[in-house]
Amino acid sequence: MTDIIQLLPDNIANQIAAGEVIQRPASAVKELLENAVDAGATEIKLIISDAGKALIQVIDNGKGMSETDARMCFERHATSKIQQIDDLFHIRTMGFRGEALASVAAVSQVELRTKRAEDETGTCIEVENSLVIKQEPIAINTGTSIAMKNLFFNIPARRNFLKSNAAEMRHIVDEFIRVAMSFPHIFFSLTSNNQQLFHLEKGTLKQRIIQILGNQYNAKLVSVQENTDYLNIQGFVGKPETAKKTRGDQYFFVNNRFIKSAYLNHAVMNAYQEVIATDSFPMYVLFIELDPAQIDVNVHPTKQEIKFEDEKIVYAFVQAAVKHALAQFSITPTLEFDI
Ligand code: ADP
Ligand code: MG
Repeated sequence: MTDIIQLLPDNIANQIAAGEVIQRPASAVKELLENAVDAGATEIKLIISDAGKALIQVIDNGKGMSETDARMCFERHATSKIQQIDDLFHIRTMGFRGEALASVAAVSQVELRTKRAEDETGTCIEVENSLVIKQEPIAINTGTSIAMKNLFFNIPARRNFLKSNAAEMRHIVDEFIRVAMSFPHIFFSLTSNNQQLFHLEKGTLKQRIIQILGNQYNAKLVSVQENTDYLNIQGFVGKPETAKKTRGDQYFFVNNRFIKSAYLNHAVMNAYQEVIATDSFPMYVLFIELDPAQIDVNVHPTKQEIKFEDEKIVYAFVQAAVKHALAQFSITPTLEFDI
């Protein structure tokens, strides 16, 4: 008998790995926006056609890539963000696995245009099925544009699995909002089928919240600010009267990363207990900052779930911080005397 085990060719391995990273257009949007943030961009534009099925393009004015890096970035496990195992515990960037662009290149037709400030000319590269099919110098401004065309063109089963344009677009808008909310000092825009859906000028967090969630929160936001040696919490919660019957405008960010946490949500609900009806949901946008060594973001492919070293402390701080902010709205018990 001959041996039968073989290593998979790169393009097949990349396509399999891509299944984890890019489940739908919105997951690609998240990865590309985060790369632009990591590149230090102050302006990030997202352009969508056909709910991302035809085109997902992110244009940034970040630091750009050299000609060699522009090819390297599509390799699997290729990253400029970590170098050694220890770096995993000090992550300050949104990305670190070097998986996203390899996945992007495995499941779409990609055109990358990029230029660094120190380079005279930029680089334009086209990639298909994980292979560079064209490369040429181009004249462009400093920054990067990545266009992903025809997502899953080479995986019909996945393409057929995508939901309606309306449903996929909702997911894209959700991801866009999460990133834009987290970086109010960066300009963001979102254009879908030539229609501008968002145009978010740089500003404060308060301004960004109102730009995104609407004017109904104007004068209805309560500042939350609590600094301790262990962690910092800052952000805004809605005044009790803004609580809604449906869950919605609720955002937690840990070290600027949007996370879903039923546990921390419970901490906020607890803090609101005395000031809103039990069947309504408060609005909150809260940023928790703590030593990256205290969290593990590497537990979920989309990094939306993280593990805290000490979850109970975080819960207690969140609850206390929100309660503190809401103290002015608590009904102070009054004593009534019969004379
Ligand atoms: P990761 O973000 O985990 O490092 P990616 O596959 O998303 O992995 O990107 C690979 C590398 O390509 C990044 O580490 C970065 O050096 C470079 N890169 C990606 N997007 C951009 C961008 N918009 N601007 C500059 N460099 C980028
Ligand atoms: Mg990345």
